[in-house]
Order: sequence, then C-alpha cells, then structure tokens
Amino acid sequence: MAEVSAFIGLGSNLDDPRRQVSTALQELDSVTSSRVSAISSLYRSAPLMGLGVAADQPAYINAVARLETSLSAEALLDALQTIETRHGRVRNGERWGPRSLDLDILLYGDARIDTPRLQVPHPGIAARNFVVYPLAEIAPELQIPEVGALRELSTQCPPTDLEKLAE
Ligand code: ATP
Ligand code: CA
Ligand code: CA
Repeated sequence: MAEVSAFIGLGSNLDDPRRQVSTALQELDSVTSSRVSAISSLYRSAPLMGLGVAADQPAYINAVARLETSLSAEALLDALQTIETRHGRVRNGERWGPRSLDLDILLYGDARIDTPRLQVPHPGIAARNFVVYPLAEIAPELQIPEVGALRELSTQCPPTDLEKLAE
C-alpha cells in the first residue's frame, strides 16, 4: 500500500502530561510501517468545557505529529489505541474526561471517513485551538477536506488559554 501522510493529535492531562506526550511521540515513530516526519511544539491548553464535563480538570498538554504510514486508517487507529492503553488510559465512558493519553487521527491524507468507529477529518479540528495552532506550525498550507484552508481557521479560532511551551 502507498504511504499516506496522517496527522495525529496528542493530548494528556494526567500523570506527568509532558512525559506522556513526549514518550507517545517516540512510540508513534515505532508503529509498524510508519514514521514520524514532523512534530509541533508542545502546548498547554485549558480543558474543553461542555455539558456534563468536569470543569475542574488539570490543564492539558497537546501536540500534533505528522506520520508517514502505509497502514490503513483503521489499522492506524488500532495502533493508537494500543499506545493509549499502554499509557494507562482507562475508558470509563466519560467523554472529554481527564486522561493519561489521547491520540486522535486528525487527517489521513485527503480521505473522508464516516463510520461508527472513525470520522476523518476529525470533527473537532476547526473548533479546537489546541489542534489548529500546532497543526499550522507543521503544515501551514494544509487544506482540510470539507473544512477548507487551515490558515483561515487560525483567524476564526483565537488562541485563548493556549500557551506554546519552550523546548
Ligand atoms: P473527541 O473525539 O471529541 O476528541 P475523545 O478523544 O475524548 O473525544 P475518545 O473517548 O478518545 O474520544 O474516543 C471515542 C471513540 O472515538 C474511539 O473509540 C474511536 O472509535 C472514535 N473515533 C472516531 N473518529 C476518530 C478519530 N478520527 N480518531 C480517533 N478516534 C476516533
Ligand atoms: Ca480527542
Ligand atoms: Ca480520542
């Protein structure tokens, strides 16, 4: 199978989040038939607020990585969930609750996928500054299927409560 450039969103707000994200980046590079070709800075962001979401969670550490992979999108999701489990991620059914590691497939080439298990492009991209800004760091010219130019999103999505961390 041909190689595809996929973009992966990383997030953690439990158990030393910086270390969780840094080690996950190394593990991503070790995924079968895949290699990391770009990594954004790390960012600190405020937890997502929503109905029924605990507002008193610790801040998140986020980053975005580009992965060259010959895995299918479904096989890539399997690999990401294996890494999440290795990081002690517990799925208790609470959406957007605190977690040791979250790995989302933001984009998989220019694929559009809409199955119960996988939506690509990830539906949260446009509204989430902790995705838009790190993505723009490594792929400023990106065009997102169904959404449009990433550059436009940056102007619509203010960097409120988002802090780029020093190396
Ligand atoms: P959000 O998807 O809004 O960021 P979340 O990351 O907290 O929320 P999870 O609990 O990590 O959600 O994942 C729930 C399910 O989402 C997963 O089991 C997976 O099947 C599904 N899913 C759908 N699309 C994607 C995607 N693009 N990347 C990762 N998981 C996805
Ligand atoms: Ca997520
Ligand atoms: Ca997820």
